[in-house]
Amino acid sequence: MANRDKNKKTLLELAKLPDNSCCADCGASDPDWASYNLGVFICLICSGTHRNLSSISRVKSIRLDFWDDELVQFMKLNGNGAAKDLYEKFVPVFYYRPQQHDCEVLREQWIRAKYERLEFKEDNKLRSYSSGLYEGLLWKKGKDNGQFLKRKFVLSEKDFSLKYYKKDESKGAKAIISIKNLNATFQPEKIGHANGLQITYLVDDHTRNLFVYHESGQEIVNWFNAIRATRFVYLKTAFPTATDDELIPWTTRNYLKEGFMEKTGPLVGYTLTFDAVELGVIFIGTEHHGYSVNECMPKGARGNKWKCGLAVGTPNRQFIFMCEQERERKEWVDALRHVISKPMLPQDYASKTYHI
Ligand SMILES: [Zn+2]
Repeated sequence: MANRDKNKKTLLELAKLPDNSCCADCGASDPDWASYNLGVFICLICSGTHRNLSSISRVKSIRLDFWDDELVQFMKLNGNGAAKDLYEKFVPVFYYRPQQHDCEVLREQWIRAKYERLEFKEDNKLRSYSSGLYEGLLWKKGKDNGQFLKRKFVLSEKDFSLKYYKKDESKGAKAIISIKNLNATFQPEKIGHANGLQITYLVDDHTRNLFVYHESGQEIVNWFNAIRATRFVYLKTAFPTATDDELIPWTTRNYLKEGFMEKTGPLVGYTLTFDAVELGVIFIGTEHHGYSVNECMPKGARGNKWKCGLAVGTPNRQFIFMCEQERERKEWVDALRHVISKPMLPQDYASKTYHI
C-alpha cells in the first residue's frame, strides 16, 4: 500500500478513537478536519475559524488532503485528549464552553482563548472576568428610537448587581439590576451585530431586556463570562448544598424556543411573546407535578387568525396557544415537552418562572 493510502487509513483510525471522535473545540461528532500543528481533530465549522488564525493553527482535511508520515505521527502523539490536558487544564468552572450550534463569536473566542492567549494553560493566569468586578463601555440599544448609544456598565460581585450609567456619571446609575434573576444570551441576528448580547432580568415580576454589543469579540465574551462568574457566586450562596454541576446550567441559559404564539382567553386573543414586550410568563413544572402539553383544536377557542392550537395544562388551569403554522406548533410542543419531562431542581422552585 502506498504511503498516501496508509497514512489516510491511520488518520481515519485515529479520528475514531474516543477522545478524537468529537471536535476538540465544540464537541460536534465525527470531526473530519485537523489542526496539524496543534494536533487536534476538529469539525468543518471550527476548521474555518482555525483557518482564520493562521499564526496559531494550520488545518487540513483528513479525507481530502495529503498527509506525510511526520504529520500523521504528530497527530498520533497528540490528539484531542492530550490537547485538552494542555490547553484546557485550568478552565474556570463557570466559563462557557461553546457547543456545535453556538454563534461564531463564542466559538472564535474559545479557540483564541485556548490556543492563542493560552488563558487556561496555567492556574495563576490573570482573568479579568473572574475578578468579581467588571466594568467598561458597551453599545446599548435605546428604548425609544432603537439607536445604540455607548454606556458605561459595572458588574459587581460585592452587591450582586449590574449597573449602567448615562454619559454624565455624576448623576448616578441609570439602572441597578439585581444579578439574582438575570440571564444573558447571544442574539446576533436579533440585535443586528455579530457580538450582540441580550441581557434579560426581572423587575417586579416583569421581564426586561437590554440589547448590547461591543466591537471586540473578546470583550463581549469577557462580559458574558463575567456575568456567568457573578451568577455562579450568587447561586452558590443562594443554594449552598447544590453541586457545581447542578448550578452551572443556571448561570446563563439559552432559550429553548423564542417566538410568538397567540393566546386565547376569556377576552380576546392576543400575542404572547418572550421578547422585548412580554405580556406573560408561565411557570412550567414537570409531568410529575401535573403539567402537560398537547396539540389541540379546542372548540370555541377564540384564537382568531392562527389555527394550530396547543394546550399547556398546569395544576390550576389550562392555557391555549395558537401557532401560525403546523411546523411552529411542533417546535413549541417539542420544546415544552422537553421542559416538562425534566426533573425540577431546587432552583426551579425558587425562581418560579421558566423562560422558554
Ligand atoms: Zn467544532
